[in-house]
Amino acid sequence: MFKKISKIAAIVSITMAAGSALAAYPEKPISVIVPFAAGGPTDVVGRTLAQAMSKPLGGSLVVENVGGAGGTIGAGKVARAPGDGYTLLFHHIGMSTAPALYRKLDFKPLDDFIPIGAVVDVPMTLIAKPQTTQTNAKELIAHIRANKDKINLANAGVGSASHLCGLLLQNAMKTDLTTVPFSGTGPAMTALLGGNVDVMCDQTTNTTGQIKGGKIKAFAVTSKGKLATFPELPPLASELPGFEVGVWHILYAPKNTPADVVNKLQGALQTAIKDPAFQSKMKELGAEIMPADRQTSAGAKSLLQAEITKWAPIIQAAKIYAD
Ligand code: ASP
Repeated sequence: MFKKISKIAAIVSITMAAGSALAAYPEKPISVIVPFAAGGPTDVVGRTLAQAMSKPLGGSLVVENVGGAGGTIGAGKVARAPGDGYTLLFHHIGMSTAPALYRKLDFKPLDDFIPIGAVVDVPMTLIAKPQTTQTNAKELIAHIRANKDKINLANAGVGSASHLCGLLLQNAMKTDLTTVPFSGTGPAMTALLGGNVDVMCDQTTNTTGQIKGGKIKAFAVTSKGKLATFPELPPLASELPGFEVGVWHILYAPKNTPADVVNKLQGALQTAIKDPAFQSKMKELGAEIMPADRQTSAGAKSLLQAEITKWAPIIQAAKIYAD
């Protein structure tokens, strides 16, 4: 009898300890790794989300930029971090393209992470340095084709969204260009503004201010139709049929993160997305909020799975690999 009671007491106290551990989470700042340089589009959305999540979560989320190799260095770091809820990854479409692009990848997107929820989908813009004299997408494409040995394409490394967009662009134009990799499109934008690189595809979350301020030349958007933010820009598909790419973002925890921690983070993410300040910032930057069913762990995982399946054959056909 005594034995039985003490066993029950032990179970109750373990359950209470687990409950109070969750109630106490987070007990210290949470590190959110953005796998690109500071000041770029993933960084901007990651920081806005981190700030909006801190209130519902009751703790601070601190963004750390770990750029390089198209986002794979930062993602690999989080894959090897303890699953304790204190290291998270805020990444984009690159999580789905890296497995096909890299012969050696030190993480498995579907096995090494638990998606917490998808946040926004961001269209890209085709932009060029301020000195560019062409005035529309047709002229720019003709200019690139005619000067393919002189024109270079900036990107954030193999596996980045700008790399994928540039790859699709070169395929659609049947023209190979020299690419210039940066640790993120924040620094790539600085090089473009200075006229040190020629052309780039980048998310509206980095390009809206520069386009509206007349600092760079913009030619097209990569969404299927026109964007409300840039009614003057045509979809790139009007020149290169079928061209469409959107940069979705997901927040991840490393595998082995306890389910109750994931649930708590998921709830905070959903509350943060509803925050009017978050919504208006995303609207201003041309980012579209993910539907509610994608703002869940299961919905984000199915998005990641579907995108891995979508991009693998396209990348294999382009015969592009990185080591
Ligand atoms: N926009 C970048 C990309 O091309 C990454 C970044 O700096 O956020 O993937």
